[in-house]
Amino acid sequence: MQHSIFKHPQIQRAKQKLKLTASRFTDNHISLAVTGLSGSGKTAFITSLVNQLLEANEQAHLPFFSVLAEGRLIGVKRDIQPNLIFNRFAYEQAMSDLSQNPARWPASTTGVSQVRLKIKYKNAQGLSQYLLDDSTLTLDITDYPGEWLLDLPLLEMSYPDWLEHCDDELADTKRQSLAGDFLEAVTNLQLLNKADEISLQKVASLYSRYLLTCQTEGYQLLQPGRFILPGELTNAPVLHFFPIPKSVIENQNLDLNKPPHDSNLAILISRFEQYKNAVVKPFYKEHFKQFDRQVILVDCLTALNRGHRSVQDLQKALDWLMKSFQYGTSNLINRLFEPKIDKLVFAASKADHITPDQQVNLVKLLDNMLHQARKKTQYQGVLSESTAISAIRASKSGLGKVKNEEVPILRGIDNEGHTLTLYPGEVPTTCPEPDFWKHQNFEFPKFMPTNLAGSHSLPHIRMDQVLEFLLADKLK
Ligand code: GDP
Repeated sequence: MQHSIFKHPQIQRAKQKLKLTASRFTDNHISLAVTGLSGSGKTAFITSLVNQLLEANEQAHLPFFSVLAEGRLIGVKRDIQPNLIFNRFAYEQAMSDLSQNPARWPASTTGVSQVRLKIKYKNAQGLSQYLLDDSTLTLDITDYPGEWLLDLPLLEMSYPDWLEHCDDELADTKRQSLAGDFLEAVTNLQLLNKADEISLQKVASLYSRYLLTCQTEGYQLLQPGRFILPGELTNAPVLHFFPIPKSVIENQNLDLNKPPHDSNLAILISRFEQYKNAVVKPFYKEHFKQFDRQVILVDCLTALNRGHRSVQDLQKALDWLMKSFQYGTSNLINRLFEPKIDKLVFAASKADHITPDQQVNLVKLLDNMLHQARKKTQYQGVLSESTAISAIRASKSGLGKVKNEEVPILRGIDNEGHTLTLYPGEVPTTCPEPDFWKHQNFEFPKFMPTNLAGSHSLPHIRMDQVLEFLLADKLK
């Protein structure tokens, strides 16, 4: 009955007129950003997110994605990205890697890239279900390195402040041993001499190499972020600076407040300032402020595998990274621009490295690591959710028998192509005390992606719940 009224010719004409007006009022755009430190799973996550949407149909395994479950999703297609300066997110290449036999993981994030999707759907409720035949949500997804967010606190530091921070970091004996070449080079550089750009570049590249070695050793709080992932700034002089250790300041009798004009010291100070003004600030002002939803991926399991220091460092890095989401009246972020992020997902990635019974623990561990940072965070109208996901599930879970008892197991393929069947162990809900590691280690396995065997949809864990949290309110 109700439908017959809406099919009346006059109503149909009114509907046509109202359609145009209504579409102007519908909020049909989301700018979603995905970040996390190197190796946290950003490329895998975006590949899977795009794949789940492009391949969403009745056969897809997305039970919690309501627009699909309610039969209202009409179709999704890729569209030309809005910002032509950014790289195009290499979705096709990633899918080609995953479709090889044997399948391989796609190349990781090295800078900013973007992908735009158009999601066509039927309205669920309200007048719009009668006025609009269907609606379109434009979804822009931006991938950027979490390391770049570690630079925000630099904006409030002077060069001497930064040197103090770096001295604290170098107090760690392990870091000191990794910094050997850099420390030797900076000790031999005469900082009061006339600036020599080539020498500065050489020492800066040793500093950058030291940071990259720290990363390989499991350190996560590494900064300046562009020294790890320079993006478009590879070889740019704005990255040719480094910290001067206290011992060198004392030996060369340096006055950081009065560097001789055109000296190595003066150039270092000015490049540090330029890095803040020409690299860090524009990232926040031109890009970060455009995002309205954000996913932060955290690889807790690899940190556990690497040991206590790595977990501690990850926690410290998260603390720094979260400063970009701590809004408040006197906050630096608010002074730079008006933030508009309204939904934040913290996702512990690679949950297919553990058995399903341990996934609750993984979320608890993540929450615990974020606790300090969250306590300091004043979410103004920001909805946040923690979860454990696998963007591209590379293992199968099941039950195995040990001494006649059934235990949960995982099966997957290792780097050498061998099938592994194992119980990877329990995930702690908090970071274990240093003593724990003297007797025990974690050995969560790494798996190669499984062969897609003709399927177009990537296997996953909880990507549908993430989609629901991020998109459902805009697909009503
Ligand atoms: P990025 O540096 O943040 O872009 O990280 P990637 O997405 O490239 O992921 C780094 C590595 O983590 C990959 O090469 C995979 O080995 C692994 N990885 C990422 N996501 C998953 C996942 O969902 N499951 C499994 N098993 N491994 C993953």
